[in-house]
Amino acid sequence: MEMNETVGKILSYGDCCDHCLGRFFGKRGHGLTNDERGSAVRTARAVAENLPFEPFTGTCWVCGNFFETIAVWAERAIAAMEGIEYTTFLVGCRVPPLISESEEMVWSDLSLADPEPIKSEINREVGKAVSAITGKDVDFKKPDIVLLLDLARDEVDVQISPLFFYGRYRKHERGIPQTHWDCRACRGAGCEKCNFTGKQYQDSVEELIGRPVIALFFAKNAVLHGAGREDIDARMIGTGRPFILEVVAPKRRTVDLASVEDAINRSAAGRVAVTLMRWSERAEVETLKSSKAHKKYRILVEVEGALSAEEFANALKTLKGVTIYQRTPERVAHRRADKVRERRVLDIEYAGVQDGRFIAEILGEAGLYIKELVSGDQGRTHPSLAEILQRPAHVTSLDVLQVGGTREGE
Ligand SMILES: [Zn+2]
Ligand SMILES: [Zn+2]
Repeated sequence: MEMNETVGKILSYGDCCDHCLGRFFGKRGHGLTNDERGSAVRTARAVAENLPFEPFTGTCWVCGNFFETIAVWAERAIAAMEGIEYTTFLVGCRVPPLISESEEMVWSDLSLADPEPIKSEINREVGKAVSAITGKDVDFKKPDIVLLLDLARDEVDVQISPLFFYGRYRKHERGIPQTHWDCRACRGAGCEKCNFTGKQYQDSVEELIGRPVIALFFAKNAVLHGAGREDIDARMIGTGRPFILEVVAPKRRTVDLASVEDAINRSAAGRVAVTLMRWSERAEVETLKSSKAHKKYRILVEVEGALSAEEFANALKTLKGVTIYQRTPERVAHRRADKVRERRVLDIEYAGVQDGRFIAEILGEAGLYIKELVSGDQGRTHPSLAEILQRPAHVTSLDVLQVGGTREGE
């Protein structure tokens, strides 16, 4: 179909503004805005067909003259971002279905080859207007803020992108879970048992690290993503456990990591301590969580009956380099699939005696259950130290000494 004929057919649907008219050919390029292109094709057709030239003045049947309100939407967007620190942003919008259905009907009726959807033009035009006023840039990949224009409700929703940083934590006190646990009695609702906190434990590593972070970043929340987790009653010492902290909806973004580290360590008062290495991003969280890093532990083992240090040390040696078959331990069976895992004991060493108990250091493949390696878990773990010693043995305290990170040497 020839251009002027197509324009005539489009206009036969109803009065249409230059933006909407130009957008029916919006992906043609030529460096024009839809507004300019619409005006150009309208004029060209009038000239070619000897029609009186009439610029558009009525109400557009597609958008209802939405594009006259761009400045209003830009002001709304800027007001919605007040008090939030950002350098880049992106505009998105929810368009009432009637508007997009109207233009899509014309696309299919006339088999148009290169129309642009109204959403794209709204996002671009409001983005340009916001940028012109604020001096901030639109960023399509990693905006600090996403503005969502809701055309039906005349509202702008602001979504602040999270920040991520990478570090290692040490947990010097036993009895602190890695993340918040709901009170078992009330499931988080708050009851007498939990002193109406809704929490089973008053603190978690996540909260001890997160509290000062929330304050510094004026954030909504802070979520800890750990490279695995130690048991509540285990300490995490040595070089510490790698983690990424997700700072949710921060109103401040330019915070110095050294001062964050400082604030966390002061506030956690030695119960937990962190070293922060660098900023991170969401993609690294997956890498961290799926990290198959080896882990090193120091444990205290209690063995029933008399046993010499030499006998104990010899029993340990027989486990070195051995593959252990572990059916999901009884104690975690309620939250993990019941299956048999194969994990290797990479290294295991006798390290002395303390209070009548033996000390051992173990380097294991990720996922090796240490307590069960010692106790045998009633035959669910094989071989085990108890099995080799032919008498009951169990771990009375466990410290994690070392966990590998996502980058070499970090
Ligand atoms: Zn229009
Ligand atoms: Zn409770």
